[in-house]
Amino acid sequence: MNHTLPKDSSQMMDWSWDKYIPFFDFLENSGLTTKNISDWMKYWSDLSELIGEVGTSVYVSTTVDTTDEEAKVRYHRFLEDISENVSSRNQILKIKFLESKLSPDNFEIPLRGMKSEVELFSTDNLPLLTSDAKLSKEYDAIIGSQTVNWEDEEVTLTRLSPVMLETNRNKRENAWKLASARRLEDRSEINEIWKKILKIRMSIADNSGYDDYRAWRWEYLKRFDYTPDDCLIFHESIEKIIVPLANKLLQKRKEALGLEKLKPWDLSVDIFGRDALVPFEEASELEEKCHNIFSSVDSDLGNHFGIMREKGLLDLGNRKGKAPGGYCTEYPYQRLPFIFMNAVGTHSDVQTMIHEGGHAFHVFESADLPYTSQRDVGMEFAEVASMAMELLASPFLTENVGGFYSEEESARARIEHLEKVIMFWPYMAVVDAFQHWAYTNPAEALDPNNCDEEWTKLWKRFQMSDHIDYTGCEDIIATGWHNKLHIYHVPFYYVEYGMAQLGAIQIWGNSLSDEKKAIQNYKSALGLGGNATLPELYEAAGVKFSFDDKTLEYAASLIEKQIKELS
Ligand SMILES: [Zn+2]
Repeated sequence: MNHTLPKDSSQMMDWSWDKYIPFFDFLENSGLTTKNISDWMKYWSDLSELIGEVGTSVYVSTTVDTTDEEAKVRYHRFLEDISENVSSRNQILKIKFLESKLSPDNFEIPLRGMKSEVELFSTDNLPLLTSDAKLSKEYDAIIGSQTVNWEDEEVTLTRLSPVMLETNRNKRENAWKLASARRLEDRSEINEIWKKILKIRMSIADNSGYDDYRAWRWEYLKRFDYTPDDCLIFHESIEKIIVPLANKLLQKRKEALGLEKLKPWDLSVDIFGRDALVPFEEASELEEKCHNIFSSVDSDLGNHFGIMREKGLLDLGNRKGKAPGGYCTEYPYQRLPFIFMNAVGTHSDVQTMIHEGGHAFHVFESADLPYTSQRDVGMEFAEVASMAMELLASPFLTENVGGFYSEEESARARIEHLEKVIMFWPYMAVVDAFQHWAYTNPAEALDPNNCDEEWTKLWKRFQMSDHIDYTGCEDIIATGWHNKLHIYHVPFYYVEYGMAQLGAIQIWGNSLSDEKKAIQNYKSALGLGGNATLPELYEAAGVKFSFDDKTLEYAASLIEKQIKELS
């Protein structure tokens, strides 16, 4: 039997499952010894990367051209025929590996993850996990079909959201009220989905012998380095330190807009009534200027981006037939990233490009780690790579260093960015605290009225301000938990953004006193991939993995000072 792995993934694109089987058989039938364990793991890792690369390729093809029917067929065949089979064969290999008690060098972190995966695995939960995923799809279908009639056209609520940036206040109010009324029409339907999905999640925890779903989910998300209590402390610190600062920003907004009180539809419009920034016209301009910016941050990072341009690993412009949104993915065997976007010329496109750039640099910097599982980075640090890049790149947005803006425009963009960072933390705390409550009080949370009540309570704690008047908006506030897809799709996954932002702010703070050293540390930390604990990764980046008052005070005062300097 020939079990030599293919040299690259291109020849595997149309393989059916039976072509993969010999490689898995070979791994399964090999006896493991201290001598061959590293080679065995490398073979498994290479095989996983080749398969992962096929997955990336077939997925990317469906997004760059949604009319490509052949690509769709190939992608679905991969999911149904290959992916599922690979998971069950991998499960067998994981058990074989763990039972051998052998391990390659520098493999403690992947080993920790694998142990927990094997432990969590329960055949009773497989159908429940499928039902859970199906219910999330039902939720998507409800949200996706929410349209309203706006200016004689049927539009989705997403397409209505840019109206919130328009200077005409009446128009904003109308749009906001129209969207809210539409959302509330689906109130009972989403309540029903919630009740079903919560029951399923309670059974999942039960089947695996966990006290509650939070405990199960903690293990599932591999949250080894922080506890639920750490998150609760984070919420408290946000309440104490960030909420007052958010209040100051709201007061500034209220005064600049000349209003007695802000209403919910006054929270996004530019407070000086300026038109939106127009950083570029063509995607090629976005590519070139971002290349300048990355090179200004660091020549290595500039070179990485150069490779992406050369090898056609960027698809940035919006065009007909492209899937919506943006992402950065990876060709794991080649250790190369790919960035997909729908740029149309807004500042948010610039921000997205720089953010995804940070993710791409993670792939380049960690490319030397031999095993794929060592490069599996948790979201708590993956987002540090991208969010820190947004901040590290911010001094180079001006055209005199190859960027997009005049000094004044750049200052405006940077202030808006920093203000959004502040406003995000309290909202994140609501989303996270709600889930802590729901999954540790499931009997109460099964009644949607209690959920409304809890969400309102949290909204008052983190989001209400003397500067905003929410009169008449009680129902839409109370059902805010209907409006956050993470709660349905990826429970508990949200606090990571808040943590990573705190790491990113600290890296940026370091760069203000010693730019070279901060960027050196940033690159070293990225170079560790996922092969270190979170405290170790943060430490390598020159910062602390903590969410207490002290860390948030540091972040708050740094941001406040910078906003003042830029104003
Ligand atoms: Zn990201």
